[in-house]
Amino acid sequence: MQDRRPAGAAGAAERDAVAGRQDLAAAGIAELRALGERVTPARRAVLRVLAETSEHLSVDDVLARADAIVPGLHRTTVYRAVETLGDLGLVTHVHPDHGPAVYHLASSLTGSGHLHVRCRRCGEIRDIPADLLDDVAARLARQIGFRLQPDHAALTGLCRTCADAADSTQAGPAEPPVDDPR
Ligand SMILES: [Zn+2]
Ligand SMILES: [Zn+2]
Ligand SMILES: [Zn+2]
Repeated sequence: MQDRRPAGAAGAAERDAVAGRQDLAAAGIAELRALGERVTPARRAVLRVLAETSEHLSVDDVLARADAIVPGLHRTTVYRAVETLGDLGLVTHVHPDHGPAVYHLASSLTGSGHLHVRCRRCGEIRDIPADLLDDVAARLARQIGFRLQPDHAALTGLCRTCADAADSTQAGPAEPPVDDPR
């Protein structure tokens, strides 16, 4: 599943998260050059912002952080940079059930992909294993010929904290939560 992995770009991230993240931005910049693409300040800033976090950032979030790296970047410039990096396969996005798409460095740079769940109540987005829906995808392909792209949209539900809260308000006295931190 690593067919788009640029030579020498990934791997370091698995050894050391912090050093790896810095390497990821450098790998992205190297890949831009390898593709014959310009390394503009906006593209460099976007790669750095996404390399430095495992959070799920909207374009506006990326813009705010990119502005701290290269002050005065135009909103449209950053938008275009994100879009171009997406077209080049260096950045991917996922659509939550509500709100704007959120962005990641592509698995071609990080070396591994993942899927997402989003809590309807608190909005938290969490990473889940990339292969979680492989059986579902295989069944859909077999039964109706549908090719599932499970990484393009987040699955929706309630996180543990919100599910526990919902249970306790709906069901009255219930079993004490086993691992409730509060
Ligand atoms: Zn929640
Ligand atoms: Zn994620
Ligand atoms: Zn999309």
